[in-house]
Amino acid sequence: MFTLTTDFFVMRQFIFALQIYGCQMNIADAQRVAGVLTSLGGKKINDENKANIVILVTCSVRQKGEERVRGKIRDIRRNNQKAKIGLTGCMIHHGEEKLKKMMPELDFVFRIDDCWKLPEICGLVSSRETAKKPENYFSLAPEIDSPVHAYVPIMNGCNNFCSYCIVPYARGREWSQSAKKIIADAQNLLNAGYPEIFLLGQNVNSYQCPETGMRFSELLRNIDAIKVSGKNKKDEKKWWLRFISPHPKDLSSDLIQCFHDLKHLTPWMHLPIQAGSDRIIQAMNRHYTVEEFAQLVHKLREIRPDIAISTDVIVGFPGETEEDFLKTLDAWKRFEFDFSFISQYSTRPGTAAAKIKDDVSTAEKKKRWTRLNDVQREISTKKLAELVGKEMEVLVEKVGENYVQGRTLQMQNVKLMTGKGHNILEGEFVRGRINKSRHWSASGEVIE
Ligand code: SF4
Repeated sequence: MFTLTTDFFVMRQFIFALQIYGCQMNIADAQRVAGVLTSLGGKKINDENKANIVILVTCSVRQKGEERVRGKIRDIRRNNQKAKIGLTGCMIHHGEEKLKKMMPELDFVFRIDDCWKLPEICGLVSSRETAKKPENYFSLAPEIDSPVHAYVPIMNGCNNFCSYCIVPYARGREWSQSAKKIIADAQNLLNAGYPEIFLLGQNVNSYQCPETGMRFSELLRNIDAIKVSGKNKKDEKKWWLRFISPHPKDLSSDLIQCFHDLKHLTPWMHLPIQAGSDRIIQAMNRHYTVEEFAQLVHKLREIRPDIAISTDVIVGFPGETEEDFLKTLDAWKRFEFDFSFISQYSTRPGTAAAKIKDDVSTAEKKKRWTRLNDVQREISTKKLAELVGKEMEVLVEKVGENYVQGRTLQMQNVKLMTGKGHNILEGEFVRGRINKSRHWSASGEVIE
């Protein structure tokens, strides 16, 4: 195993920086890396050019993401000759040897499940002193530096093998954390003051407790039942519950029912459709049809009329014809997603789709992205315009001198003017009135 030994490590006084790419799961992973290093006396800073150790938590979902990581590593080495640079996250599927060839500036790489071994990998302790292997890396204490979102990873890996996706190779097969531990973690985070519990998993709704067999909807019900006292001990604390990302094929009726029954679960569902043509959905190995997806959307909106639905889509998948793409445009007009993440297909070596000829040109992918984005902009603009004149709850994520910015229950991004000298903090709930909307956000003023 690669080890590092220098004075600052021997002294066990060191500073480290993290670079995080990709999804919320990588933020949760980085919080565990930070937890391990902080427990050894490390101090986290934001400037990687001044750190002794820099660790990049990477994303492999798109080729561009990997290129950004390579560029960043070159920059860090140019500006900080002495730093020990490590890499973890989804790019690890390339293997240590290939990664070090691709990026000779790298000092060490590790699988995220091995982050408990970081003290040894970084040369902070000898192999004899290395901590005992935890049951799984989720049980390591995270170092959370946001007062807003408490990310709680509940499962890791994926068994679905969507043909374009690298996650099953990068993170391995699916496993779930014990429900007892998840519920205890959520309770502790709420007691500590977090206003929002955000459950995470690559295929979050295929969760199954390894001890009791508890399924995802039951887990949600148990978490929703957690009681936390408010500032005034007699009151119950206000808090929100969210999750990401579910797979349409695992969206049970009971999970849909949760949007009606649960008090803390917010009316927002991110439900990735990925394409609007059955032929392409099948080629993606996704196991649903557009009509089945439509039934899910219908049930969700029937049970919770104010629910916002967002989605992911890939344009330019190999073999996607103009006719297929027109079906995607039709799906957008039909489902009226509140917002969507649109990506252009890029081949991920090692996946099933990599064996199919990438026959949609880059120019055509760009055109399809623009056409779909235009439709989404129109829908989002229309939906946000409907907010004007309404009052709503906002969870504050950012605080300025005379404004606050945050998310509504439905995950809309809003900016509220406060007037100078306000004392609202990040992580607090405020009530606002919306008086203006744009394409992707809305604004107004704080009224409470
Ligand atoms: S469900 Fe599909 S897209 Fe999501 S992580 Fe698993 S393989 Fe990837």
